[in-house]
Amino acid sequence: MGGHTTIPGPLGKRPRWYWRPWLLPLLTLGASLLPRIIDFSMAGALLILLAPLLLFRALIAKLRAGRVFAATERVGRFQMPFRQLAFADDAPGRNLAVLLNVFRGDMAFAGPRALSLEEAAAVPADQGIRFSLRPGVFSPYALRSKVGIAYEGEADLDREFYYTETAAGNLGLVVRTGVSGLLAGDAARPMPDHLDFFGIAIANTTMGEAIDWIVRRIRDDRPATIAFVNPDCLNIAYTNPEYREVLNQVERVLPDGIGIRFGCRILGFGLRANVNGTDMFPRLCERCADEKLSLFLLGARPGVARQAAENMLQRYPDLKIAGTRDGYFAPDAEAEVIETINRSGADILLVAFGVPKQELWLWKHRSRLKPRIAMGVGGLFDFYSGRIPRAPLWLREIGLEWSWRLLQEPGRMWRRYIIGNPLFLYRVWRQKIGKLVI
Ligand code: UDP
Repeated sequence: MGGHTTIPGPLGKRPRWYWRPWLLPLLTLGASLLPRIIDFSMAGALLILLAPLLLFRALIAKLRAGRVFAATERVGRFQMPFRQLAFADDAPGRNLAVLLNVFRGDMAFAGPRALSLEEAAAVPADQGIRFSLRPGVFSPYALRSKVGIAYEGEADLDREFYYTETAAGNLGLVVRTGVSGLLAGDAARPMPDHLDFFGIAIANTTMGEAIDWIVRRIRDDRPATIAFVNPDCLNIAYTNPEYREVLNQVERVLPDGIGIRFGCRILGFGLRANVNGTDMFPRLCERCADEKLSLFLLGARPGVARQAAENMLQRYPDLKIAGTRDGYFAPDAEAEVIETINRSGADILLVAFGVPKQELWLWKHRSRLKPRIAMGVGGLFDFYSGRIPRAPLWLREIGLEWSWRLLQEPGRMWRRYIIGNPLFLYRVWRQKIGKLVI
């Protein structure tokens, strides 16, 4: 073994230096200081690099508002109050002046959102973990809210951040926020309860409210059909009067995908959330398990709906799946399919035949179908059965789920996205200037 002495430890032999008493405390200190060192040096470097711009901004603020900075009281790490800086003539928030807060150590680049005094006072004790981190200029919750996919509560996302933070992850968050900013923009726009696209009223709502609505309709015994629409659906509705008529008649139309957000932007409105079927499905299953409501899954290739049901049952063992059936049956089997659904006693029927087939089918048979809630869900069972993998979260965070679907099935999807998305935006623009003929 030469001159190298080793001492057996619980995990095998380790070199002698490992046991030096100062090493572990030093490593611990280093690890806990590392994020701060990175933030400090990044903020410092940016302040130096951007100095001319910052000085110019300061001058403009002074001329316009009479002072350089405006400060907002925020609650920081260990619940210590601090003043978040912004140039006085600009909106608070992500303003270059905040670099000074990061440099000073009030804030980090990535972390939980900085809270106002009132918000901080309302944080329950069991969510206090967020206060052991510096508030972030960029936060996971803010990112997902902006793109409309913050379906988990802020507390959950903060906790997840606390346990999983890494330097690379933080950099990713900053980059994704930047990219999503280009794509989604900030929503300080009016948010009406309904959005009109091509004469179709879409509910401007959140995931939580949409699921409450479903449960309420079942409890009140008031049947309803729900449709999700993305730009492709609205393009189809524009040229297909039958489908458009159905969308006008169903009890609820919900906004699916980043394209609707862009459309809203053109019209000058804000979209509360991206309430698409794919993100709703697991949350609906969870809620149905709690409320003892059952689901019937109809559609997709043979075996796919059943596999999706099995996967959901693994996740929510209390869930009741009343039945499943594939979506490739002959017209003369229709009566039998409807009979099977009705006999299953399902409260909610999900139909995946693709747009507009599923909506037309549901509308045609609505008086014969017993489930209180019926909705068209497109490719949803393909995702949850694992047949087609869904876009990774980071792509969804920057509003690019559609590009993933395009890569998965380019032959089928290129028309929908490459032609459909710009066409949709063009039509929305025509609607805005009052020139769209419907
Ligand atoms: N489908 C079906 N019966 C049909 C045609 C299609 O069950 O007659 C299924 C198909 O297998 C797929 C879904 O309907 O699972 C449509 O998926 P798509 O991705 O086209 O949905 P969309 O994007 O239109 O919502």
